[in-house]
Amino acid sequence: MGRVTSLDELPLRDDLRGSTPYGAPQAPLPVALNVNENTHPVPDEVASDILDDIALALRDVNRYPDREFTQLREAFAEYLGHGLRPDQIWAGNGSNEVLQHIMQAFAGPGRTVFSFAPTYSMYPLIAQGTGARWIAGTREPDFSLTPDDAAAQVADADPDVVILCTPNNPTGTPLDLAVVEAVYEATRGVLIVDEAYHEFAPRDAASALSLLEGRPRLAVSRTMSKAFAFAGARVGYLAADPAFIDALRLVRLPYHLSALTQAAAVAALRNSETMLQMVDEIVAQRDRISATLEALGYDPHPSWSNFVLFGGVDDPHAVWQALYERGVLIRDIGMPGHLRVTAGTEAETTAFLDALASIGSPS
Ligand SMILES: *Cc1c(COP(=O)(O)O)cnc(C)c1O
Repeated sequence: MGRVTSLDELPLRDDLRGSTPYGAPQAPLPVALNVNENTHPVPDEVASDILDDIALALRDVNRYPDREFTQLREAFAEYLGHGLRPDQIWAGNGSNEVLQHIMQAFAGPGRTVFSFAPTYSMYPLIAQGTGARWIAGTREPDFSLTPDDAAAQVADADPDVVILCTPNNPTGTPLDLAVVEAVYEATRGVLIVDEAYHEFAPRDAASALSLLEGRPRLAVSRTMSKAFAFAGARVGYLAADPAFIDALRLVRLPYHLSALTQAAAVAALRNSETMLQMVDEIVAQRDRISATLEALGYDPHPSWSNFVLFGGVDDPHAVWQALYERGVLIRDIGMPGHLRVTAGTEAETTAFLDALASIGSPS
């Protein structure tokens, strides 16, 4: 064996030199509230139902899976409602892969991808992975967006792909559909509305799915990773015009969704009512986190998701480290004065709040 080579010595693409990979720490701490997972396990009766379907699928794994994942698309169309048809549905191994398909089809070298910072840290990485240039717009001081300002920034940047995240990660901020409509009018590019956390928003919150009709450049993405407690299964999906779906077929790898993934996701969706019954409990813990943080003297931002971003932290890294030493993992997203925490089970949430209180209040 030769000596270990460093990355600098390899003929890496010039545009990837000096970049760093996605790096949320994965540490085996008793209380992990750092990547917005649903910390409630899949209920036992659902797990065994899923297992039965996986066992059946396993008998046929000598064959390639259904490339068009027909049953799964039907299940997603039914789950989403809004009169959607299966030919308007796409899915991938996590919504990250779905986003990658969009950027492979519509971004790429010489093109640009635009969103409003701070937002999901994977957007620039996926964009740059396709060779596209990333452009970050700005938000109001409370992280909200107004239709006029958002549309003006997009018109000015003239990007090929625009992403609106709602509720926004890492801030939890909801977005008025008027912003989606205004940005769609302001761009010639495709517009992705990332609704990864939609199930945690108030029940009557409008979805951008209601805007799909007559907007062929609009796509609305969702994931099973958060509300469905299915992060480890890797299943994300979107709804768009059938022609938009055709574009994604040009770039996906053949048979990209394994037969086991398809079987697991179809079975999970059949049990969506049970799978989603923990959402109310998580929302209650989220609101408890916000109220307690405020009582402790921190500055939590309003959240419609399963996490809370809070300001008023003098030394975010020191607080992150002190919590780590107490067995609690949260997220230092590199925003001055801020930390982000996921709403866990009642016990996990209590462990976080007690540990934070034991560190002492902000000055
Ligand atoms: C967690 C998250 C996703 C989901 O990623 P998966 O690949 O489906 O696990 C997508 N968008 C945002 C904003 C997220 O926070």
